[in-house]
Amino acid sequence: MDFEYAPAPESRAVVDIRPSYGLFVDGEFRDGHGEPFKSIDPSNEEPLAEIAAADAADVDRAVAAARRAHDKVWGPMSGRERAKYLYRIARIIQERSRELAVLESIDNGKPIRESRDVDLPLVAAHFFYYAGWADKLTHAGFGPDPRPLGVAGQVIPWNFPLLMLAWKIAPALACGNTVVLKPAETTPLTALAFAEICRQADLPPGVVNIITGAGETGRLLVEHAGIDKVAFTGSTEVGKQIARAAAGTDKKLTLELGGKAANVIFDDAPLDQAVEGIVNGIFFNQGHVCCAGSRLLVQESVAEELLDQLKRRMATLRVGDPLDKNTDIGAINSGAQLEKIRMLSEIGEQEGAGRWSPPCELPQRGFWFAPTIFTDVAQSHRIAREEIFGPVLSVLTFRTPAEAVEKANNTPYGLSAGVWTEKGSRILWMAERLRAGVVWANTFNKFDPASPFGGYKESGYGREGGRHGLEAYLDV
Ligand code: NAD
Ligand code: MN
Repeated sequence: MDFEYAPAPESRAVVDIRPSYGLFVDGEFRDGHGEPFKSIDPSNEEPLAEIAAADAADVDRAVAAARRAHDKVWGPMSGRERAKYLYRIARIIQERSRELAVLESIDNGKPIRESRDVDLPLVAAHFFYYAGWADKLTHAGFGPDPRPLGVAGQVIPWNFPLLMLAWKIAPALACGNTVVLKPAETTPLTALAFAEICRQADLPPGVVNIITGAGETGRLLVEHAGIDKVAFTGSTEVGKQIARAAAGTDKKLTLELGGKAANVIFDDAPLDQAVEGIVNGIFFNQGHVCCAGSRLLVQESVAEELLDQLKRRMATLRVGDPLDKNTDIGAINSGAQLEKIRMLSEIGEQEGAGRWSPPCELPQRGFWFAPTIFTDVAQSHRIAREEIFGPVLSVLTFRTPAEAVEKANNTPYGLSAGVWTEKGSRILWMAERLRAGVVWANTFNKFDPASPFGGYKESGYGREGGRHGLEAYLDV
């Protein structure tokens, strides 16, 4: 007997979206002088608010405000005092976490279950964690008196809007820097809510500035002569442009770019658990995850059994309303991203891989893509090489551990990897050989503010999180 789920929608009434938003500069919301744009709800394509765009003069003003705040207030302030502000911000985020989770799901399309249980707790945890470092920097292993860099220009993507903001702003502020941050154009609303939180926390004006706009605003910010540090998370293509622009300046640069992670399943792995890990690895956040386990490498002897189990599990995934608490897979963040996922999936079929999705009814309006796997994928296929950034898994097989390592590392990226096996010695053997910044063993997509995160090769450089994450914001 099949039990039907009744709808269990979270209330939209807990958020208050204004019809329009300005730029948050020097502690005030101000008009932008670029062409304003709209952010939409990707689950139904309804416009949510009109957002100001920063032009060159607006970026100048934001950078100047950050400079003043750094030189006069935040830089000279003791770490102990800075920590109080960060703790206050962390607590306000916790207090407002339901509202922020709903806002994130509306603007981004991700399931409320994830924004509520993953994004928001991690956002608060990052601020708590770096608040703890603010008065202990002299003990962090970066010399007796580590100094801030100054003003950080930070550009973030749309996949984890508030979490990426936390990864950028918390360590920067803890180290005594001030920031100008640009959220992605499809998901600016939680960053603007964070601007209000900065006011609520009485953060001195200019310490955090939020400027909105598209790629051009991002370019104006990262190329601005008045900043000391650039932190970027997003596509490898834009990351390379930024690296070129920063070359020859004395700006410090960290880049967190794409990935094409291998999730490696050995024949001795507990397959039930591995299936959960595979699902979490590629369908979490609609697969809009730079460290997603998008290449499944399964040992040939268990491939058939594992794929049967995986398909049965995929048939239970619920795709639909992001605000429904039963939803596993929400909306694709934008029409453009949906196009890219469709295009690469069609290429996968043309290349001869076997495409499969469970039967699932997709809503009429909005941007949707059914969870999909491709079997019989060859390493040369584009769907095995390029980041799809959607709920699409490419399945490859291997026979020996050495072959698994070779295939796993056969990618221009190196952000993350997963290993599933009962043998501890094999986990260590694999971890030593996988060229990836993070290697998860018998789990996937686990994040913790104390743990550094970052890539090898075209996945970028620099680390965020943990003690390592301080280095990117200190003059060392
Ligand atoms: P993107 O790199 O274009 O955008 C990321 C951020 O950079 C946004 O805020 C954007 O406005 C800004 N930006 C764009 N051009 C810029 C420039 N020239 N200078 C400075 N900032 C600029 O990414 P996208 O177009 O949103 O997504 C494209 C692909 O990037 C995705 O399909 C995915 O493969 C990858 N991606 C990776 C991550 C990640 O977490 N590593 C996140 C988002 C997207
Ligand atoms: Mn949006």
